[in-house]
Amino acid sequence: SSQPDTRHEIAGERTARDAYWMPFTANRQFKDNPRLLVGAEGMHYTTADGRSILDGQAGLWCVNAGHGREPIIEAVQRQIAEMDFAPSFNMGHPLPFEFANRLVALSPGDLDHVFFTNSGSESVDTALKIALAYHRVRGEGHRMRLIGREKGYHGVNFGGTSVGGLVNNRKYFGLLLGGVDHLSHTLDIGRNAFTCGLPEHGAELADELERLVALHGDTIAAVIVEPVAGSAGVILPPKGYLQRLREICDAHGILLIFDEVITGFGRLGAPFAAQYFDVLPDIMTTAKGLTNGSIPMGAVFVRRHVYDAFMQGAEANIELFHGYTYSGHPVAAAAGLATLDVYAEEGLLTRGAELADYWAEKLHALRDLPYVRDIRNLGLIGGIDLEPRPGEAGRRGYELHCACFEKGALVRYTGDIVAMSPPLIVTREQIDELVDILAQGLRELR
Ligand code: PLP
Repeated sequence: SSQPDTRHEIAGERTARDAYWMPFTANRQFKDNPRLLVGAEGMHYTTADGRSILDGQAGLWCVNAGHGREPIIEAVQRQIAEMDFAPSFNMGHPLPFEFANRLVALSPGDLDHVFFTNSGSESVDTALKIALAYHRVRGEGHRMRLIGREKGYHGVNFGGTSVGGLVNNRKYFGLLLGGVDHLSHTLDIGRNAFTCGLPEHGAELADELERLVALHGDTIAAVIVEPVAGSAGVILPPKGYLQRLREICDAHGILLIFDEVITGFGRLGAPFAAQYFDVLPDIMTTAKGLTNGSIPMGAVFVRRHVYDAFMQGAEANIELFHGYTYSGHPVAAAAGLATLDVYAEEGLLTRGAELADYWAEKLHALRDLPYVRDIRNLGLIGGIDLEPRPGEAGRRGYELHCACFEKGALVRYTGDIVAMSPPLIVTREQIDELVDILAQGLRELR
């Protein structure tokens, strides 16, 4: 096989790494100092130079059952051999039907219809389009506005970018969607630093939605939030905040969308954040853990009243003019079904609840180490917020990430925040090891 030679080349000369324009990466910095992963099993990656790295971020918040799971591998192999692809429009094959049935059995309330996509970004844009069309088909087409939140991350397509609230993700890309407004984010280190679990202060920030209703009247279609924001650096909802959003949406005929791309599939110790918080959104976006990260796929869950609003008129009519060539892809659906089996057999969708206290206690033991200005946790999510080095914002986060990688653990950095989201199979010993590596890395920061 030519593979080992190619790998060697990619790991060697920088020029061999030039053609690939890497996503969300400092390309030149990375290509000078590549951190290449070539294998994975269970809780560990293997690097190009043969080191074993503890995966502290479940790939990218997606490999919830750990790496290299045999049932998923076999299901993918079987399906791709049996049928690689079937047209998704006006044709079908059994797997996405079966997968949707299995998914709605897990989802809260009457979120019992599923639209398949290929990523979190596509799930978000699909959800926003469904929300707009929902009002339109009900004769409330004047509801055209979408409300997001500062520091929100909803992927990178135009809809998700527009409702998102991370300045660098927005400012390069023109005017984005019109008619979008934003709530304030809920990060308040001044009042909530080092809170274990949900912050006490800030539920009143949900009342901003009332202010936006006062401004925009009945033109708001939907509000989208991450129940827990990951990409912006682990931002938690203050106690009562999500409940309040739900109440205000109900009072004003606004759809509530939870973006559960990272919180879905067990991250908080319940299958979905909607269950963890006991707040039922009208639409829920997912991806990542849906297939354990193995094959790209996303799923948008909608409640019965949303689906039913479309199922009117002549039965020969297409109800929603939206979909992807790969919606419900057979190989992805096979991967997803096998993933749900693994989650069920090993109790992974609730395992986080058993480990959450241990995880919290260990993480918070880092609070007195250099430059740590906040530690945030919920379920099996953790974030360490570092004091930025004057004039070099973001460097400490990057340096801590690199130090951990050198010492054998992969953790994510966003600016000066380092985020952890280990696979849900993590053991207590592996939590100790991860926190130990973080502590060593923190002690070396300057
Ligand atoms: N929404 C949220 C909350 C996310 O965290 C992400 C990715 O991290 C996305 C959407 C986008 O998902 P994808 O990268 O699969 O498009």
